[in-house]
Amino acid sequence: MNHYPKLTIVVPCYNEEEVLPDTMKQLAEVLESLANSNLIREDSTLLFVDDGSRDRTWEIIETASAQNPHVKGVKLSRNAGHQNALLAGLSVASERSDCVISIDADLQDDIRVIRTFVEKYWQGYDIVYGVRDSRKTDTWFKRTTAEGFYWVMGKLGIQLIPNHADFRLMSKRALEELLNYKETNLFLRGIIPLLGFPSAKVYYDRKERLAGESKYPLKKMLAFALDGITSFSIAPIRFVTALGFITFILSAVVGIYAIVQELMGRTVSGWTSLILSIWLLGGLELMAVGLIGEYIGKIFKEVKRRPRYTIETNLYKTSRSSFASR
Ligand code: UDP
Ligand code: MG
Repeated sequence: MNHYPKLTIVVPCYNEEEVLPDTMKQLAEVLESLANSNLIREDSTLLFVDDGSRDRTWEIIETASAQNPHVKGVKLSRNAGHQNALLAGLSVASERSDCVISIDADLQDDIRVIRTFVEKYWQGYDIVYGVRDSRKTDTWFKRTTAEGFYWVMGKLGIQLIPNHADFRLMSKRALEELLNYKETNLFLRGIIPLLGFPSAKVYYDRKERLAGESKYPLKKMLAFALDGITSFSIAPIRFVTALGFITFILSAVVGIYAIVQELMGRTVSGWTSLILSIWLLGGLELMAVGLIGEYIGKIFKEVKRRPRYTIETNLYKTSRSSFASR
């Protein structure tokens, strides 16, 4: 009995009252069927992380955990963002699980492959990535921007698993290694492939959201992409430096040309070139300053060493009888 792994499924939830009851039911069924097949331990758990929701999400989690010993919850004191909420769940789960699966609350990811994840774990894989077979449920816009994102990241030498979001299994030792990465801005999808360890991919079809709407509007998507790039690479800085260097050489050529023209008495009014250079250089400089600022901002955030999230209530630690907070 003891060698069966204890699995925790971590689900970050932000204003998910519409989907949560259904999600809980479906995931509980998955756990039960896995336990019945002797793939995981009986006391495997669902861990819902309430990421500072403003709707009834926490009420639903609390009620469910009072009724079902397999349902646990962690409430964050404020909205810490998807990645941080996930991390909070992973770190709480790591203490008492042999392996952990993360999945979104909207069940866009196919829960039937959770069984395959666990089978891969049994075969000795430490990390199992869920990879989307197609992106047909995405809008054209999301598909194209995602492709662009993977392309840019690839060019910068950042190895990502294309079409893999945060639906994956991790073993305890991989998870503990991950939790050693203390940077405030943790880009999970970039870090996890860096951990090494035997890993496998499982393909599945991603569905439409069960209900409710996406919590990733364009603004958050862009911030996420920029974060991903600047957390991993200083290539953009190099690019700007190179651009500045080329501009400098060019300006020397233009300068000589201008002086020659002047000496030959062929002074032109010069308005066009003046305006052009002001705008060109102004643009370049602003871009460079902005980019450098981006990295300084990162340093600024990192040196503060602020907690990534704050746990307000942790129902995972408690036995069924009490409700202690951290
Ligand atoms: N989420 C979260 N905190 C946030 C935003 C989102 O915990 O600030 C959760 C959300 O509840 C969901 C998951 O992150 O479980 C993915 O969000 P969503 O499904 O809205 O993103 P999409 O699938 O549209 O990219
Ligand atoms: Mg979703």
